[in-house]
Amino acid sequence: MPATTLCATPSSPAAKKNWSSQSLQRTPPSSSVTHCSAAASSSSGSHFLQVDRVAFLIDKCKSINQLLQIHAALLRHGLNPHPILNFKLQRSYSSFGRLDYAVSLFDRTDNPNVFLWTAIIHAHTQCGLSEQALVYYAQMLSQSIQPNAFTFSSVLRGCSLESCRALHSQVIKFRFDSDLYVTTGLLDAYARGGDVMSAKQLFDAMPEKSLVSLTAMLTCYAKHGQIEEARLLFEEMEEKDVVCWNVMIDGYAQHGYPRESLLLFRQMLGAKVKPNEITVLSILSSCGQLGSLEPGRWLHSYIENDIQINVRVGTALIDMYCKCGSLDDARKVFDEMRDKDVVAWNSMIMGYAIHGFSEEAFRMFDTMCSIGLLPTDITFIAILTACGHSGLVSKGWSIFSSMKNEYEIEPKIEHFGCMVNILGRAGRLQKAYDLVRNMKIDPDPVLWGTLLWACRLHNEVSLGEEIAEFLMSHDLASSGTYVILSNIYAAAGNWDGVAKVRSLMKESGVEKEPGCSVIEVDNKVHEFLAGDLRHPKSKEIYLMLEEMNRWLEMNGYTPQTDVVLHDLGEQQKQLSLGVHSEKLAMAFGLISTRGGTTIKIVKNLRVCLDCHAVMKLMSKITKRKIIMRDRNRFHHFENGSCSCGDFW
Ligand code: ZN
Ligand code: ZN
Repeated sequence: MPATTLCATPSSPAAKKNWSSQSLQRTPPSSSVTHCSAAASSSSGSHFLQVDRVAFLIDKCKSINQLLQIHAALLRHGLNPHPILNFKLQRSYSSFGRLDYAVSLFDRTDNPNVFLWTAIIHAHTQCGLSEQALVYYAQMLSQSIQPNAFTFSSVLRGCSLESCRALHSQVIKFRFDSDLYVTTGLLDAYARGGDVMSAKQLFDAMPEKSLVSLTAMLTCYAKHGQIEEARLLFEEMEEKDVVCWNVMIDGYAQHGYPRESLLLFRQMLGAKVKPNEITVLSILSSCGQLGSLEPGRWLHSYIENDIQINVRVGTALIDMYCKCGSLDDARKVFDEMRDKDVVAWNSMIMGYAIHGFSEEAFRMFDTMCSIGLLPTDITFIAILTACGHSGLVSKGWSIFSSMKNEYEIEPKIEHFGCMVNILGRAGRLQKAYDLVRNMKIDPDPVLWGTLLWACRLHNEVSLGEEIAEFLMSHDLASSGTYVILSNIYAAAGNWDGVAKVRSLMKESGVEKEPGCSVIEVDNKVHEFLAGDLRHPKSKEIYLMLEEMNRWLEMNGYTPQTDVVLHDLGEQQKQLSLGVHSEKLAMAFGLISTRGGTTIKIVKNLRVCLDCHAVMKLMSKITKRKIIMRDRNRFHHFENGSCSCGDFW
C-alpha cells in the first residue's frame, strides 16, 4: 500500500501538476486518491494528513454539520485544502444544497483547475442556475483553461437553445464533436429547446450510439409529437430499458394516442419489463382519455400489489376514475389516501363538478379550506365548473371575485370560460359578452365557442351573429365556431345565413372535426363514426337503430334537423342525423348488454341537441341509465332527464 499522505503546506506546484494531468473519468473522482504520493515527497514534515482518509470522511458525511466540522478541522490545521479535498468539499457542499458554501470555497481557491471549474459549473446547473453556469464557463476560458467532456456536459445541462448553439461551436473548437458523451449532451439540449432537426443531425452523425443517446433521441421525438419517428427508432432499438418504454408510452399518451399507449403497455408487460410509477401515470392518463374503465381498474389492482400508491399515483387514479365515470371508485381512493395535498383535493372536487354533483363539490371545497389547505387556480376552475353546472350565478360571481380579492390569484382564461358558461346558462348573454370583451387577456376559441353555444341554446341570433362576425373578421373562427353559427342560423330559419357560413368554411378550408363515440363492452372498446359501417355487427346495429326510431316516434320525438350543417333535404337531414356516432354506440350497447345495464358512451365533441334529446328519451324508454362523457362534461341520463339540466 503506497503512502498516500499530504504535507500541511499549501499544495506544491508539483502536486497541482500531478493532479491536473490526471485523466478524469466521466464522473467526478470517487474516493480513490492514490496518485498523491508525489506530493508527499515535498512535505515539510509538520502535518501529515492522509488524503484518502479525509476524502473518505468527506464522502461519508451525512449532514452539512459533519462536513463543516471536517472543513473547519482542515482550516484549523492551517491547511489550504489539497485540490482533491477542495474538489470533494465543493461537491459535497452542493450536494447538500449549499451552493453558497461551494461558491465561497471556490472563490478562495487560487488558480482552480478544470475539475474545480467544472464542479462549480455543475453545482450551478444542478440548482437550475444555467446562466450563472455559463458565466463561470466564460471565466474559465478567459483564464486559458481548456474544458473537458464533463465541463461540456455540465454546462449543457439546462442551457437555453441559444446557448446550446454557441456551445456547439465550442464543442467543435475543442474537438469534442466526436465524443459520444458530449454530443449526447448537445443532442439533449437541442431536444429540450425544441430544435428536433439539429438533434437529429447530431444523432445521425454519431459514429456509435449508446442507450443514453438513443433514449435522448427517442425522448426528443416523443416529446415534440413526432410519434411515427419515435416508434421507428423504438423498434430499431435492440436494448430497451423501462425508461425507453416509458418515453414511448408517454409520447402516445401525451399526443392523443391513448389506445396505442395501452397497446404498447401490454407489449411491455409481455416483454417482462417491470413498469414503474412513470409508466403507471401515463397509462392512467390514457385510460382517462379513453374513458376506459376496465384497463384502469385492472391497473389499479396490479399496482396495489407492486407499486406504492403515493399522492401522485393516487391522484392519477382519482382522475382516471372520474373521467371514466366512476365517482365511487374515485372517492374510495381519495378516502384511503394519506397525506393528501391540494392537487388530490382538486382532482376530487373537479370529479364531482364535471359530473354535475355540485353540492358535493362545494362541501369538499369547504372541508379542504377548513383543514388549512390553500386553494389554487385549479381549485377555482373546479369550483366554478360546479357553479356552471348548477346554474349558480351569484355564487359564481362571488367566488370569481374572491379569487383575486381574498386569495390573490389572478383569474386565467379558464376561469373566464367558467364565468361565461355560468352567465350563458342563465341566459345573461350580453353580460357574458361584455365580460369577454373587457378581459385583459386574449380570449381563445374555446371561450368564444362557449359563448356562441350559449347563444344557440337561447336562440340569441343577433348576438350570435355579432360574435361570429367579430371572430371571422379577426381570423379567430374555428371549425366549431362555424358549426355553431350555422346552427344558430338554421334554428332561426335563416337559410341564406347557413349557406353563407358553409361557403365561408369552404373558402377558409375549415373542416368539421369528425364526431366519434366510444363504448366499452366486455373489456373491449368499440369506436363509431357517423354513419359507420365498419363494425362486424353493423347489420344488427342498424336494425336496432330502426327499432329505436320506432320507440322514439311513439314517444313524441321529432328530429331536430337544424343541427345538420349540410345543405340537404329534410328527409336526408333526418337520415344523416339518425346515424350520429353516439346513436350507433347506443344501439350497439343495447344489443350487446343485458337489460338494466348502464350504458357508458364517450364522445369526442360536444353532444348535439338531437342526440341529447334522444338519449333522454331512450333512458326513459329502456329504463336504463346512460352516462355520456362529451368534450365538456358528463351527462347522466335517467328516466327521461339529464343531470346537466339541458345546458351543456
Ligand atoms: Zn348528434
Ligand atoms: Zn345533458
